[in-house]
Amino acid sequence: MLIFRQLIDPQSSTYTYLLGDDKTREAVLIDTVFEQVRRDAALVNELDLKLVATIETHVHADHVTGAWLLKRQFSSQILVAKASGAQGADRYVINGDRIEFGARYLEVRATPGHTDGCLTYVLDDESMAFTGDCLLIRGSGRTDFQQGDAHQMYRSIHTQIFTLPDQCLLYPGHDYRGLTVTSVAEEREFNPRLGGQIGEADFAGYMENLSLPHPKQIAKAVPANMRCGEPEGAVDALDAQTWAPLTYTFAGIWEIGPPAYEEVANQVQLIDVREAGEYSGPLGHIEGARLIPLAELSKRSAELDRDRPIVAVCRSGARSAQAVVLLQKAGFSDVANLAGGMLRWRAAGYPVKDGGD
Ligand code: FE
Repeated sequence: MLIFRQLIDPQSSTYTYLLGDDKTREAVLIDTVFEQVRRDAALVNELDLKLVATIETHVHADHVTGAWLLKRQFSSQILVAKASGAQGADRYVINGDRIEFGARYLEVRATPGHTDGCLTYVLDDESMAFTGDCLLIRGSGRTDFQQGDAHQMYRSIHTQIFTLPDQCLLYPGHDYRGLTVTSVAEEREFNPRLGGQIGEADFAGYMENLSLPHPKQIAKAVPANMRCGEPEGAVDALDAQTWAPLTYTFAGIWEIGPPAYEEVANQVQLIDVREAGEYSGPLGHIEGARLIPLAELSKRSAELDRDRPIVAVCRSGARSAQAVVLLQKAGFSDVANLAGGMLRWRAAGYPVKDGGD
């Protein structure tokens, strides 16, 4: 079975796609976004996948790829189009290549027009294709910068995408209205720029008169993407929260496991956000934990030291996750949730004060 997730970067309206093979757990990510790497890495880890490659549909002008950062974390290969001219990739793909993940693969189709190096990736059974900024839902990528060429784009779409099976689902690189998926049959019929009887010259005329604003990120994004997302200068600043070995969850919470907490216990502030009755109840509490029930946390946050990291704990880890969110909103930067709460802490055999058996 195919593991499939569609993720969005709201800032640039970029879609990132995760595809995995459920047996071998090998997976690839298409079109990652630098600022979303922490999220994507959390998902890869939570789904127990092995990221084998990051793949670009093209050299983006509106966001920086997360390929380099993900390679640093997962040793994943960076794949880009040979025609992109990008430096620092592990593999340069061309039309007809196959990108394998477990027992599955993506077929590479050259679909230039938005840029020279634009590729569309077609799943092995032709049930889905990832069109990047070539074909968009009821639209198309722009052709007025980089190596844009409306005539080439029209031919790419008609020969490489509209020739796929009618029911083949098409997943674009962006959508600015929040639409997520379309199909070959739909776009062939209803795409207002390219569908029905619209000819190449009609399309070119349409594209020449779009008058879109210049992309805000282009001056920064294109050079960075030509290096496959490798930053210039120091990158350690990107790794927030270095005070302990923390895990970032796909839910968006920083967590610390009981063993890691033990390591840093004397350097951090532990707050127990349960009710007083629970704190002194049968589960007990952790040595040194300060009781601040979740409902009181906002008004009592001034009691906390801003210069020392904070770990929050509750019964199961739910209320303390909320405490982490609340404290981060209040401006505390180094905050983590004790994963699994008192239940996991006790199950793992760590000591408690005042608890029963
Ligand atoms: Fe683009």
